[in-house]
Amino acid sequence: MTDPLPTGATIGILGGGQLGRMLSVAASRLGFRTHIYEPGANPPAAHVAHRVTTAAYDDLAALAAFAASVDVITYEFENIPTAALDVLEASHPIRPNRRALAVSQDRIAEKDFLTGLGLTCAPYAAVNSLDDLHQAIARIGTPAILKTTRLGYDGKGQARLKTPADADAALAAMHGAPAVLEGFIDFSHEVSVIAARGLDGSVACYDPGENVHKDGILSTTTIPARLSPSQRTDAILLAARILNALDYVGVMGVELFVTRAGLIVNEIAPRVHNSGHWTQNGCAVDQFEQHIRAVAGWPLGDGSRHADVVMENLIGDDILRVPAIAREKNAALHLYGKAEARPGRKMGHVNRIVK
Ligand code: AMP
Repeated sequence: MTDPLPTGATIGILGGGQLGRMLSVAASRLGFRTHIYEPGANPPAAHVAHRVTTAAYDDLAALAAFAASVDVITYEFENIPTAALDVLEASHPIRPNRRALAVSQDRIAEKDFLTGLGLTCAPYAAVNSLDDLHQAIARIGTPAILKTTRLGYDGKGQARLKTPADADAALAAMHGAPAVLEGFIDFSHEVSVIAARGLDGSVACYDPGENVHKDGILSTTTIPARLSPSQRTDAILLAARILNALDYVGVMGVELFVTRAGLIVNEIAPRVHNSGHWTQNGCAVDQFEQHIRAVAGWPLGDGSRHADVVMENLIGDDILRVPAIAREKNAALHLYGKAEARPGRKMGHVNRIVK
């Protein structure tokens, strides 16, 4: 166990989107500095960070200079190239660790890991050709979903198969990328657990939230989720099991389908998660501070919930509703400072305290 980072130390964050922005704000509340590494110009996190490096993930010299300027490295997205991680890890620990990244970067590795822990996932099979797909359909059946194994998010890189006749079109939608066929889960609703693990191995989970997606993108998270006491316990225990198995340090989002037969793990995200934004106004210590505490080697904070909250994402033109939302009672706005509102682009969110 290494010593906790002292205030004034610098936390390096890979990725400068809204998650990096909110991590930077939380870090500075604890007296840390942040250094953002982001290939794109003028990212949301740059407005609130102490330092920004604008460079690509294959710029090894820029990565080495970034690593030399920070005390610990974390990230806001999971698709960091392996070569970049090699350079960074030569000088500082990356938290959460490489294994967590490797497992979550690849849907098949992820499902192999989760089922290996005894957890339930949708039935799945690797698909690299039309032959594979026909065999997978014969085993799993339809309806089913074909997903690229890597680089999918917000429902991108996915094709639904209502019947086996949809096989050709679904495979074409993968554009030649390796894929995985998943059986379609007849779930009643979707929930997620935001869980944290400290450097000392202690685990703290937030109350599970219930998620509603629109067009594959998270629309709302409602806390508390509709779960029986035993389902709630199961959800928290399985999240803790995942964190322990990975020797994880930081915050993770675990997405679950609720079915009559039990909880099915959809996917894990080794980072702060959109479905955990409610914690900013529902808990003394939110997911962003919790993540910073964990990666800095501090004790985890109190994540118990003091209010019922509904988080609504403001996507694209939803941003036009901000003047009206700003007049609402018990509504906390969190805007990301993005100049241009494009369809499907997350511009901000509002946490409405309902009790
Ligand atoms: P993903 O990118 O894997 O999180 O999928 C995005 C959304 O598609 C999920 O939140 C679900 O609403 C839906 N979905 C994904 N996989 C399945 C599945 N195997 N069965 C039913 N719905 C799914």
